Amino acid sequence: MTAKLDDPGAAEALESPLLAASGFSHAFFTRRGGVSAPPWDTLSFAVALGDDPAAVRENQERAARRLGVPAARLYYLSQVHGLAARVLTGDEDRDAVVREVGDVTLSRVAGVACGVRSADCAPVLLADRRSGAVAAVHSGWRGTVLRVVVEAARALRSLAGPGAELVAAIGPHIEACCFEVGEDVAADLAACSSAGGSAVVRVASGARPHVDVRRILRAQLAEVGLDAATVDDVSGCTACDPVRFFSYRRDGQRSGRLLSAIVAGRSVIS
Ligand SMILES: [Zn+2]
Repeated sequence: MTAKLDDPGAAEALESPLLAASGFSHAFFTRRGGVSAPPWDTLSFAVALGDDPAAVRENQERAARRLGVPAARLYYLSQVHGLAARVLTGDEDRDAVVREVGDVTLSRVAGVACGVRSADCAPVLLADRRSGAVAAVHSGWRGTVLRVVVEAARALRSLAGPGAELVAAIGPHIEACCFEVGEDVAADLAACSSAGGSAVVRVASGARPHVDVRRILRAQLAEVGLDAATVDDVSGCTACDPVRFFSYRRDGQRSGRLLSAIVAGRSVIS
């Protein structure tokens, strides 16, 4: 599903049918429908790279409108490819939160939007159908090796309480077509899930290894109880689709940052 581009001021986003059917407002935003000037055109969410803060603020407003929350309740952190998780209640100042370091945002307060930013790294959105609690996870290759999505699922279960029924969606990232790595990184990625190295690392003769991060993330999620039916793929390769996505691999320091976010829902627990 895609927002209409002829709607002025609408941030374009991809959705997971599974998360939508579970009642969660969420979005894997593309780079379209914002106001940032080149090379951050147009829906970018990072000021540290040189983008105009006023443009990023307008982009935040548009993203929040798409999610159905006030912009002040749309949170994301300064990501460092680690495991730190931040639980949000909606009372925090978003401009303070964005200076905090971490790679997972969580909340069980209805109306709080948990986000992550990416430009090749995989965004993963998690939700508990029972409590309405949610998490957003930033899993680049380092985070994937550290199994950040496993830690996030555990943290979400802990926050959600007994009887959690988790669902997840893995968003656009640099896919196996473009994710060429060195032997050391390939070996680390081959060893960080139950998928098996031969299933996730592809080596054509004479070429460097290509790695399928989506398959690793699916295996890691399966290890914490999210079977195949509870995990959605929102596909797209950031590196080979410059029209829809930012890509650090493709554009380096001149790459903008995509946003993915999910809004905590109402608890069904009395
Ligand atoms: Zn590609």
